[in-house]
Amino acid sequence: MSAANVEFLTIEGEPCPPGQQPQRFTFRCVNGNRGLHPRLRDRTCGELLIANSGHGIKRDGQGLNGGRPQWDWDGNCEAPTFSPSINCEKHCGWHGYIRNGRCVSASGQDEPE
Ligand SMILES: [Zn+2]
Repeated sequence: MSAANVEFLTIEGEPCPPGQQPQRFTFRCVNGNRGLHPRLRDRTCGELLIANSGHGIKRDGQGLNGGRPQWDWDGNCEAPTFSPSINCEKHCGWHGYIRNGRCVSASGQDEPE
């Protein structure tokens, strides 16, 4: 299985307190955890911005014009879906989606553990 283990964060990157609007998220890095001892803490990918969450940062998927890439969240805390796809080329090379709380490859397949 490939649970994304999404964690919701404040804009400063701290754990988001219950009842507060999360403004960033992080998730269990798909490639970064392959081959690690299962009892080690998950390596996470990014602290990605959630769009329209009140931070006021301009959105630009290319990071141009003072904007920053951001992801739309469906509001589901338990099994979140984000769009568009996530490209972790700076970290582990993974490119895919988080859908229903799972990591899915760019071609739509559930990622193997
Ligand atoms: Zn990664």
